[in-house]
Parts: sequence; C-alpha cells; structure tokens
Amino acid sequence: MRVRFDCPKEGCVALIELEPLQSATGGIECPRCRTRHLVTLSEDILRNNRVDACALCGCRELFIRKDFPQRLGLGIVVVAAVISFLSYKSNLLLSWGVLAAAVVIDLAIYFVIGTVTVCYACRAEYRGTAANESHRGFDLAQSEKY
Ligand SMILES: [Zn+2]
Ligand SMILES: [Zn+2]
Repeated sequence: MRVRFDCPKEGCVALIELEPLQSATGGIECPRCRTRHLVTLSEDILRNNRVDACALCGCRELFIRKDFPQRLGLGIVVVAAVISFLSYKSNLLLSWGVLAAAVVIDLAIYFVIGTVTVCYACRAEYRGTAANESHRGFDLAQSEKY
C-alpha cells in the first residue's frame, strides 16, 4: 500500500509519500526537514495489506472516501461552463449538451476510481489497501473528536 501525509513538524509543509508503506521499518524521513517519523507497522498492515490502525499516529479510527481527483473534476466543470456560456446564443443544443457531458464524465470518473482510507486524527492517506469492513464513510461527529 502507499501512504501519504503532511509532515507533522511545525513549519514544514512537505507532502510525504511512500510506497510500499511496509518497507518503512525504520520510520519515514521527511525529504525537506529531515525529521524521521516513526511508523508502526501492525500485523494487519504487514500480513494482510490492510489498515487496522494508522501507522503514523496509532489512531484506530479511519474513514473511507472516493479518491476523486477534485482538480480534474472541477476543471471539467469549469471548461464545460465556459463553452456552454459562449455557445448559449449561437447553439443552444451544444450549450446544454456540453453541461450534460461534463456531468456524465464526472460520474464516470467517480465510478472507476478507487478508494482511499484516511486517518481521522492525522489525516494520513492510505491507498492500494485491502478493504477493511469496519471502516465507514466520513462522519462529522467522529471527526470533531479530533
Ligand atoms: Zn518535514
Ligand atoms: Zn493517523
């Protein structure tokens, strides 16, 4: 599995990524501030490629969300809106058609993309993991505990 997290050190804004997480037996070093972050590789992570607890903070509460490329999704909508606006007077069919197409493309992306498991406490993201049945979608009440 692949892990991605923001360097927790104050003032450091590095986005750290490592694949596979299982190789991080000696911790993960931030490429920017050189801080070494300890990771805990649980049995579940090592043997089943499944996250039962966050490897970085040990939190056992994680949620699942679709790995939607938000910038791409938004980009498609913006481009469609511009084309729609420009063609509104000259070609009404194109104007509406392009908006409908944008919705269909976004939906298609939504269905083919995978999921990402996210830690409630430190927001570390795990991709390419085996499904953990106990994880649910994002829950605001749960999130407010942290
Ligand atoms: Zn750092
Ligand atoms: Zn965490």
